[in-house]
Amino acid sequence: MPIYLDSAATTRVCQEAAQAAYEAMTEGFGNPSSGYAVGQQAAARMKACRETVADSLGCLPEELTFLSCGTEGDNWAIRAAVEYGKRRGKHIITTAIEHAAVLEPIKALERQGYEVTYLKPDRKGHISLDELTAALRPDTVLVSMMLVNNELGTILPVAQAAQAIRDSGAPALLHCDAVQGFLKVPFTPGELGVDLLTISGHKVRAPKGIGAQYIRKGLELKPLLLGGGQERGLRSGTEPTAQIAALAAACAAWRAEDREKLAHTKAYTLDRLRRVPGLEVVSSGDAPHICAIALPGYPSEMLVRDLSDRGICVSSGSACHKGKPSHVFAALGLPKRTLMGVLRVSFSPENRQEDGDALAECLTEITKNRIAMR
Ligand code: PLP
Repeated sequence: MPIYLDSAATTRVCQEAAQAAYEAMTEGFGNPSSGYAVGQQAAARMKACRETVADSLGCLPEELTFLSCGTEGDNWAIRAAVEYGKRRGKHIITTAIEHAAVLEPIKALERQGYEVTYLKPDRKGHISLDELTAALRPDTVLVSMMLVNNELGTILPVAQAAQAIRDSGAPALLHCDAVQGFLKVPFTPGELGVDLLTISGHKVRAPKGIGAQYIRKGLELKPLLLGGGQERGLRSGTEPTAQIAALAAACAAWRAEDREKLAHTKAYTLDRLRRVPGLEVVSSGDAPHICAIALPGYPSEMLVRDLSDRGICVSSGSACHKGKPSHVFAALGLPKRTLMGVLRVSFSPENRQEDGDALAECLTEITKNRIAMR
């Protein structure tokens, strides 16, 4: 079994979630819209699942809409928010370090005539609230700010952004991509003061193919998909009951102690990694499960391959970038040698200290071999 240190890319489905999905696909296979008992039982189970997920997120069940993934939620939130504010203005604020699932739909709006302010991070990946406050305008209709950056593990000032929007009087809705923050850092949408918030199942030990959108009660948005009227008419399509059951089970299986466990494993691993010759910690991350390191002069793609040959999985940045230096690390203004040698290391509660030892030992060995080859 490889040592998996890339849980920000995806996670192994936990036993509880796999079992719940199996049961929903076999015994509980009914269509929740069917009027007979098999269908109504599926509808009742789905209702219970929605309550469980809402409980984990800290919102009302009716504020949650199930959808297929984080990308779908981010795209919908952004399009629906600008549609909502279309008579009030055409200015959007986001950060330069958002995931492509946020940046790409915003770039598409920019091509359609929206003006976009991209808030830049400092060298450590933090976003300044002063810059946000200065950027807010009477025609700002959307602010989209992630909770936890997927490559650096930094936490962004979402609650403070909500306050700044209120203070400014701008008509902006606030969307938060909480795909990496959900369960890993404590928050509720109410505490953050967001209007829209997106989560994804496969980052929290549920399968791929399920996510959810929080839509603040009272906010009326245009539906994502028209059809049979499922999900209160907002996202038609027969509900993926197995994935929903699995997401609820994964939420129920998550323990508050898991956060401490993650933080402990990450701190231990960083301590070990700091002793690898030449290694730089690019971001130790505020969130308990993500950090970024670099071996300047060693291309990340090569490191990923060499580590994979030794049975260790880490990422050369977001799994979505495939070979190109990531826009997130580029935004930090890192020197090129560091930028090209960046690795993201991310943890799940299953990881143990020994995994950190193995990573540090392999990287030390790689650097020694490289010196010997020169
Ligand atoms: N937003 C963030 C911060 C992510 O890390 C990811 C996935 O890596 C996404 C959105 C997209 O989520 P999904 O893979 O569920 O589409």
